[in-house]
Amino acid sequence: MSSPRIEIDLDKIFYNAKTLVTRLKAHGISVTGVTKACCGAPQLAKVLLRAGVTSLGDSRIENIERMRKAGIKSPITLIRSPMISQVDRVVAAADISLNTEPDVIRALSSAARKTRKQHGIILMIELGDLREGLMPCDVGKTIQLLSILPNVTFIGLGANLACRNGISPDNDNMGTLSALANRIDGAADATSHPMSVVSGGNSSNLDWVFSGGNIRRINNLRLGEAILLGCDPLHRQPIHGLYTDAIRLTGEVIESKTKPSKPWGTIAQTTFGEPPIAQDVGDVFQAILAIGQQDVDPSGLCPPDGIEVLGASSDHLLLNTGTTQMRVGSEVSFLPDYSALLRAMTSPYVEKTYIEKVEISRLMPQAAPAFVRAAYGSGLPHQYRA
Ligand SMILES: *Cc1c(COP(=O)(O)O)cnc(C)c1O
Repeated sequence: MSSPRIEIDLDKIFYNAKTLVTRLKAHGISVTGVTKACCGAPQLAKVLLRAGVTSLGDSRIENIERMRKAGIKSPITLIRSPMISQVDRVVAAADISLNTEPDVIRALSSAARKTRKQHGIILMIELGDLREGLMPCDVGKTIQLLSILPNVTFIGLGANLACRNGISPDNDNMGTLSALANRIDGAADATSHPMSVVSGGNSSNLDWVFSGGNIRRINNLRLGEAILLGCDPLHRQPIHGLYTDAIRLTGEVIESKTKPSKPWGTIAQTTFGEPPIAQDVGDVFQAILAIGQQDVDPSGLCPPDGIEVLGASSDHLLLNTGTTQMRVGSEVSFLPDYSALLRAMTSPYVEKTYIEKVEISRLMPQAAPAFVRAAYGSGLPHQYRA
């Protein structure tokens, strides 16, 4: 195997996705599986669909086209507002998009009309995090516009919190979204159905749902991080019962020496800004891995016990390897956070390895983790059946 590489355990991701799909179903919430952190990898998309997500979502049209080329037929939502310059590609590859701009919606309508397609529109509502979204008072006008444009269909509302300002989903902001959905449905004429989607947000909504939030009209969440990393993005805590080690990043040692812990000479800036403040703890076993800022966000790497990340430059990751001196040519694996994962998946220098079914023997029924047994009861997924 070559390095650096990112290893993605699709079995663990399957369990994470299936567990979240099952838990959310009990609250009447469907899951849109978000593939953007893995650049729309078809391997991931297929596993998410097998686990029961009702649709896929990605922020980039290139990723959606990649999944379509791989033969994925499920509904796919473009979860970033489309660029006007890409509307033809959007209506060709995506069934639905999240929208906030009347000009974009008009352009989607004419692109869809040219190719005789129907394109679904979810209107995003600003609820306080100040990223995308219509101010609630402007929604009525936009729905009016949608009702007169051909080949685009209003299918519901959405919101996104936590990504820019860390605003947490709660009964207030989610209640605003539900009340808006009720108001819009109430104002529609008696023959029309209630809107089909009220997509409350992303992985940061899970804590609100599972801690007894008042769900009201919310019937969909768009989940990436929670499935891939088993982690709640609001507090970066593991989500009970999910695997937090489904994805690993591995690099190779290219230098291993005993060196002083404190640099010497006149200190100025480094390539990436202020130098770290080095404590003088005497000599240390220092190893260099052949992976750097161009491949990963070094601050988002969780090293194995006994190893500390000291810093990184474009192509080098510096480690204090504690009590053992590493052999040149040996490897070190890390658990990446979302930021490290995103950059590693996007780096052409990092090999992507998808692992499936290699752990079946370990995961036979008697060995299935307790949470899997609890989630499935007697209906254990086929991987677990003897
Ligand atoms: C990235 C994104 C998501 C998924 O977010 P996670 O925190 O990975 O679950 C959902 N919705 C939108 C609009 C996004 O941009």
